[in-house]
Parts: sequence; C-alpha cells; structure tokens
Amino acid sequence: MTAPSTIVVKKYGGTSVGSLERIENVAARLAEDLARGEMPIVVASAMSGETNRLVAMAEYIDPDYRGVAYDMLVASGEQVSIALLAIALQKRGIAAQPLLAYQLGIQTDNVYSKARILKIEGERLLDLCRRGIVPVVAGFQGIDEEENITTLGRGGSDTTAVALAAAIGARQCEIYTDVPAVCTADPRLVPGAKELTRVSFEEMMEMAALGSKVLHIRCVELAAKYGIRIHLRSTFEAREGTWIVPEGEVMENPLVTAVTHDANTFVFVLHPVPAGTDFLANLFDRLATRGVVVDIITQSDTGGGQRLAFSVTKEDVALTRQTLKEFLPPGVDVETMEGMGKISIVGVGMRNNFGVAARFFRVLADAKIPVQLVTTSEIKISAVISSEFLSTAAGQLADSFELRTADAGASNRG
Ligand code: ADP
Ligand code: ASP
Ligand code: MG
Repeated sequence: MTAPSTIVVKKYGGTSVGSLERIENVAARLAEDLARGEMPIVVASAMSGETNRLVAMAEYIDPDYRGVAYDMLVASGEQVSIALLAIALQKRGIAAQPLLAYQLGIQTDNVYSKARILKIEGERLLDLCRRGIVPVVAGFQGIDEEENITTLGRGGSDTTAVALAAAIGARQCEIYTDVPAVCTADPRLVPGAKELTRVSFEEMMEMAALGSKVLHIRCVELAAKYGIRIHLRSTFEAREGTWIVPEGEVMENPLVTAVTHDANTFVFVLHPVPAGTDFLANLFDRLATRGVVVDIITQSDTGGGQRLAFSVTKEDVALTRQTLKEFLPPGVDVETMEGMGKISIVGVGMRNNFGVAARFFRVLADAKIPVQLVTTSEIKISAVISSEFLSTAAGQLADSFELRTADAGASNRG
C-alpha cells in the first residue's frame, strides 16, 4: 500500500493538546495544512499530566498491579483528547472522525503496559482520507487478540504515529512537540543546548534507549525498519525542526552528538545469588518475557556470595518486583537503590576515535561525581550516578564536548 504523498501522519503530544485553547490551536494548524492541499492523519496523546494522573490513581490502590485493568485505565486520556480535537475541527467546518485502536484494528501482543504493534488495517484510514474526512487517532493504545485494550509504554503515541505511517506506506511522519528540535541535550536541563538539523536513526535509538524522552524508542526502531523519515518539530512555531534519517544522509559527524540523561533509573541489587550462568539466563529471560528492559548489569564476588546489580527504568520497577517475587529462590536479598540517574553520551563519531571514554570519566571525576554502574557500546558511554548530580554532569559534558552555544555555557557556569 502506498499513500499519495499529500497524506501525512501528524502526531501532537501531550503539551500540544494540554488545554482547550491548545487543542483549538492544533485544529487551526491542521486547517492551514488542509488549505495547502495536505490531508492529515492526526495522532494525539492525552492532555499533558492526564496519563500521570491516571497512573497515580492505579498506584494508590495497588502500586504493583499491572495488567488489563491498568492498561484500560491509562489509555483513557487519549479518548478525551481525540474527541475534543475532532470537535474543534468540525467547528471549523472540517469533517473529522475520532478513532480508538479497536476501530482501526491496531493489533498488539498482550504484554500489557509494553505492548508491541503486530498489525494495523491502513485501508480504513486511506478510505476516510479519500472521502475528505480527517482521521484523529488515539495514540498509545492497541488491542490484543482477546479484544482487551493494551498500551505501548509511556511516550508510546510516537510509535502509533510511525506505525500508521508504515501501514499506509508513507515515506515520512511528523511529530509535533513542545521543543523546536532534537537538541544536543535536553534544553530544559542544559540551557544553550544546540538544535540538531539531522540525526541518524541509530543515534536517535541510543538516545531514546538511554532515557531521552523526546522520541519513544519503538517509534525510531519502526522508522528505521520501514525507512520512514521522522520530522520532529514545534507545535508552536512554523519553522522546520530535526529530521531523523538514515546515517548516510547525516553530513557532519562530530565526536559526540548528544548528552542524554535519565532521572528515572532504579538499581536492583540481589545478594547472594546462585553461582553459574543458568541462574542469570533464567532470570533475564523471565524479565524479558514480562517486557522489562534491563539496562546495565554487573556481577561481583563479595566474599559472602555473588552480588548482582542491574538497572531498569522507573516504569519497569513494578514489573521487576513482581517478577523477582515469583522467580527468586528463598534467601536472596533484594535491595533497591532509589534516586539514581543515568548520564550518557552518544555519537557515531565515537566509532573511530580513541580517548572519548577517558574524557567522559575525567569530566565526572573533576566534578567529583561517583559512578555506580557503567556500560559502553560502539556509539555510547553511559554511567549510573546519583540523580542529584545529573544536571552538573550534563552541563559539564556538554561543555567538554562543545555541545552548547558558548554564551549559554558561560552564563550557566558563571
Ligand atoms: P510530547 O508530549 O510532545 O510527546 P515529551 O515530553 O514526551 O513531549 O518529549 C518532549 C520533551 O523531551 C521536551 O520537552 C524535552 O524536555 C525533552 N527532551 C529530552 N531530551 C531532549 C533532546 N535531546 N532534545 C530535545 N528535547 C529533549
Ligand atoms: N499519554 C501517554 C503518556 O503520557 C502516551 C504519550 O504521551 O505518548 O505516556
Ligand atoms: Mg512524548
């Protein structure tokens, strides 16, 4: 299936639809798109703060519960925003149809809170477009084989958008958000972070995996798989933002492209764990089946038995606890280190350069920041540190690798 290039999937995030006024602003922008001859397929997130509010209610009753009822609850915010957006479009004389996942056959597996999209019936979307009706689709949600509502993980509306683009055979997808571009660091943490014109799929995947929430990781994975270019741009400004594209299309490759931080890191420490690889294989297999993404793993011999430490994101803490409860033999102590964060640098330019790791650790050492866990790959270096140091670490690394404008760096240091 290949949609005409005038049909463009456009995703609006939580802040972009965060108030009734902003919903009307999105409707006005869409009216301009239509006037220019584009036919938008809209994906919207819940109004900002709404998904957190829903999560907090579930966690008040049972912090460890995950399953069908949880996903049904947290998916409900999107139903409100798409209905309001459809009303705002119709007020402007634009025919619009709000659509939930079941109406589009957005089929997922049944890994609740972390579901993966298996199939989408793109034909219905194209049919609406042909009839001049703007589809307004709920992001973040899907439906499993038994017709239960599933959700795709926090930030998952980005993934809905790229999956819809893939389903209709589009070559690109627009993600509208509350920053004008993907920057060399989160501009809210590092003032003066530079805007990037182009970022490779590979680097963007690492940034997303390391906690930069500007794009959901599965959205970038899908975009890379189907060769869909993502244009990330501001809802509040008309100018172009950042294009996420195949690596060959990125002209400049600085040593380090971006600093990424993640304030939501939890470290689990298990002690004493049975010796042998079987235990590790079974434990991580069990966690993977539940959809838990284990990030950094270290094992050490303490004299009093093997100590295993691994980090997960805050979102996965409940699932991890649940899984450990079911899996661990008696006698293994489970401790959690809370208030941890992860600081990372990412860049394809690291591949052929020595000394980047040395410089990374030198910056942390000079700032007297203790490092708990470390991991590296060809294009990233990542360390778990106490979250109170994240801002200092991000700022110092940005300065050391020349990732912010000189003025901002100076004023921030001063
Ligand atoms: P939306 O609700 O539109 O999906 P998100 O809050 O999920 O928006 O993502 C946008 C936010 O991502 C920005 O407000 C910014 O604070 C954060 N962010 C983190 N890292 C970066 C980065 N490298 N460049 C730009 N924004 C970033
Ligand atoms: N509303 C969901 C969340 O807050 C999905 C999204 O915004 O992408 O995680
Ligand atoms: Mg988001």
